[in-house]
Amino acid sequence: MATDLATRKVDGSALAGRALAAAGARHMFGVVGIPVTSLASRAAAAGVRFLAFRNEQSAGYAAAAYGFLTGGPGLLLTVSGPGCVHGLAGLSHATANAWPLLMISGSCSQPDAGKGDFQELDQIAATKPFVKLAIKATTIADIPRLVFHALAATVAGRPGGCYLDIPSDVLHQTLTESEAAALIDAAAADSAKSDFSPPKHISLDEGIQKAAELLRHAERPLIVVGKGAAYAKAEEAIQKLVDTTGIPFLPTPMGKGVVPDTHPLSATAARSLAIGQCDVALVIGARLNWLLHFGEPPKWSKDVKFILVDVCEEEVELRKPHIGLVGDAKRVTELINREIKDQPFCLARSHPWVEAITKKAKDNVLKMDAQLAKDVVPFNFLTPMRIIRDAILAKGSPAPIVVSEGANTMDVGRAVLVQNEPRTRLDAGTWGTMGVGLGFCIAAAVAEPDRLVVAVEGDSGFGFSAMEVETLVRYQLPVVVIVFNNNGVYGGDRRSPDEITGPYKDDPAPTSFVPAAAYHKMMEAFGGKGYLVETPDELKSALSESFHARKPAVINVIIDPYAGAESGRMQHKN
Ligand code: ADP
Repeated sequence: MATDLATRKVDGSALAGRALAAAGARHMFGVVGIPVTSLASRAAAAGVRFLAFRNEQSAGYAAAAYGFLTGGPGLLLTVSGPGCVHGLAGLSHATANAWPLLMISGSCSQPDAGKGDFQELDQIAATKPFVKLAIKATTIADIPRLVFHALAATVAGRPGGCYLDIPSDVLHQTLTESEAAALIDAAAADSAKSDFSPPKHISLDEGIQKAAELLRHAERPLIVVGKGAAYAKAEEAIQKLVDTTGIPFLPTPMGKGVVPDTHPLSATAARSLAIGQCDVALVIGARLNWLLHFGEPPKWSKDVKFILVDVCEEEVELRKPHIGLVGDAKRVTELINREIKDQPFCLARSHPWVEAITKKAKDNVLKMDAQLAKDVVPFNFLTPMRIIRDAILAKGSPAPIVVSEGANTMDVGRAVLVQNEPRTRLDAGTWGTMGVGLGFCIAAAVAEPDRLVVAVEGDSGFGFSAMEVETLVRYQLPVVVIVFNNNGVYGGDRRSPDEITGPYKDDPAPTSFVPAAAYHKMMEAFGGKGYLVETPDELKSALSESFHARKPAVINVIIDPYAGAESGRMQHKN
């Protein structure tokens, strides 16, 4: 046996697969081909399930969402050159959203680099703008150390994308079983020694005291909950903070569910009032970027004092808040809770600020409910969204994971769909990336196998990665994809007459698709279940059957092409 280990050979692909397994990886998303096909099956043999996609772009989005949902890095495997370029979509998306992802790509053989080799590309240079770390294994012995190092770097500080390049000659090099085991052991031991824990701010203690003081004396305090808080699994601490202080909270789109949407202190339906009039805002795991109107007037009051909780020191420095608390959202919120416990305070429900928020929210909910109560046929966006909301709520706990993209579909879905559990909403995110939907669905289904996954997609968003319905069927994942089909981007052809001139005036509008496209048949083509629905009863029956079956399904919902607005709520930017 000992002699066997001393002589039996392990190649670079097997070594990479084993190193990934030893570092704790459980799933990898990607597309195989030269030179990484063997790496995928070797990794699977070592215990890392490989989810084979139809395009690296979707696989990359899957790996990004997996990082957010699990808190561990998502893994993306691509071939060289064009595969790596397709993978950049997911890699950059992960970094933009501060989610951990490691992309591993094969690359051309080192001795042939510079000669125009098959799929040759300087992949380190190509990935560098989008990552925290881009490294290359130049010999097989590098692999275990770099795998451990790159995985750890994805979650260190602000989470994000990292890249590991393994040239094809390195994948084919060999060493013995005992050398392989020793290298993996050494890499694991080294990695255990490195400290990737969130930075400890020197003045955190003092900052916590000041933050608690500021909240205690605020007249109109607000807690903003971002997806960084969801990632940090800070739900228990934040719910406690809201409950003990009585301060209203406002989630960002993917911060929804950290505190249940149905909580009486939710300011979601009174968003403009809450951000426009609060005097102190405790922002936990959310950037003051475009999604939060940069934290500036006119949306925010010019005198608002921000307390910013973020794991990233540069982020806090950039925004120059009144108080910056650099650290993990869960840990910092627990410290604030502890500080408040010594001198507790709680805004009564009759406090003028709380009353103003809850009254405004109630009024707005009543207005929305009146709209939602109508059964409008042909469907607008609201009627089917209400039916979907009710079907999702009827599932109870564990709540389904909702994936959402599209302009109007995502906007309306964010307002109507209810998130009562953390990390149950995945959408276009910080970059407003369309095409993420199917990849997100696959990641959600493998990361959270007990939950149903329900995608509510515009037809345009769905089209970016629709071929992945085959992937859903191949792995028999419990995913129901609902397509809001309104014939194109924003609803097909909405050009004014002066736009329909010139030599190509008979071409279809840039925004339009084939009308009433049979998207459900794409799913049927692979053996999944397809539904075409045009009425409330048809939709209810399709949802009931597909939610119960927990099998891949596409529900093609025909929407009035004149419903909804161009660019959804982003018209000022179009
Ligand atoms: P949202 O889109 O919900 O507004 P953003 O993506 O803008 O959220 O911001 C999320 C923030 O959370 C990022 O600035 C990121 O650095 C931060 N973050 C990530 N992980 C943690 C963590 N564990 N604790 C605190 N902040 C975190």
